[in-house]
Amino acid sequence: MKQLDRLISNNPAVTALFLNKSTTVTVIIADRNYRVADCTKSLTTALHLSEKPVGVFLGDILFPLNDTAFEETAVASKGSDNPVPQIFRLAYSRVLYRCFISDIDEGYLLFGEHIESTDNDALDGMTLLNNELANIIRELGKKNRELEEANKKITELIRTDHLTGLANRRYFQERLGEAMSLALRRNNPLSVALADLDFFKSVNDTWGHDSGDLVLREFAALVRGECRQEDLAVRFGGEEFLILMPQTTAEQARVLAERIRQRLETLNILGNDYRITVSIGIAELGSADTQDALLKRADVALYRAKEEGRNRVVIG
Ligand code: GH3
Ligand code: MG
Ligand code: MG
Repeated sequence: MKQLDRLISNNPAVTALFLNKSTTVTVIIADRNYRVADCTKSLTTALHLSEKPVGVFLGDILFPLNDTAFEETAVASKGSDNPVPQIFRLAYSRVLYRCFISDIDEGYLLFGEHIESTDNDALDGMTLLNNELANIIRELGKKNRELEEANKKITELIRTDHLTGLANRRYFQERLGEAMSLALRRNNPLSVALADLDFFKSVNDTWGHDSGDLVLREFAALVRGECRQEDLAVRFGGEEFLILMPQTTAEQARVLAERIRQRLETLNILGNDYRITVSIGIAELGSADTQDALLKRADVALYRAKEEGRNRVVIG
């Protein structure tokens, strides 16, 4: 087949000549509005015309033409090794075309092969089957698109913490390795900030679990709002959050962490003047760091922030 492919592409004139002379093969180029732009001679002859039917609507030549099915088949056939043919009956005749349709820059390319039959039942049967096939292809295309959407949603759900809408720990673990190797390869800084709400247990104990949930959501919104597009804000566990910051030194991370800490302090989330605070530990990636070592350093810094009186940012 390779040899044949080469032969055809090396001898386009011969191929064109053959196609133009053929009485059993028809090539049609149609624009996006299904108007004939060009065709080989056999179509002109089959339609008993003296000139090419340029500008004529394909649906007036080929029966039955279903726009959507046609489009779906053309797109599905593009780049496929196994395109599905559609069968059309040529207007005012017993000629059937077994057509391979392809989506091209100018519109559509049809390669039709004539099948002649005197059996009307067979013709009608084939036309009916063709309609069914066109419908199946259309449905399949729709289902595939729905499946893609559903897959996208599932992936999003798997990666998201449902209470806060932030990325979850699983997704963070997926991204961390990749972010670390990119940073090391390009010699770029990378920092993580581990944040833990202070005395959160007493928020739950005093105001109830729902109020605790509200605080978590509000804090998540605050973090999301402060992060850059390229940062990843994560709900790491219960009342622990993490921010992965590519291209950020520990000192730059401290600025962001401080802003989050101060903003939280001013928020009156529960509407009762009970101020919630957060402690944050920061670690910058070192060239010998493993993922665990980096996270451990942020955790130790967080522990120190708690030890030193909470409501503060510490670099590890
Ligand atoms: P510290 O300042 O030392 O961090 O004190 P803390 O009370 O925040 O720490 P501790 O780890 O003792 O308590 C964390 C609390 O977070 C306990 C748990 O009930 C609560 N928590 C964890 N997940 C959720 C959640 O999804 N919703 C609510 N409302 N509370 C949660
Ligand atoms: Mg905690
Ligand atoms: Mg806590």
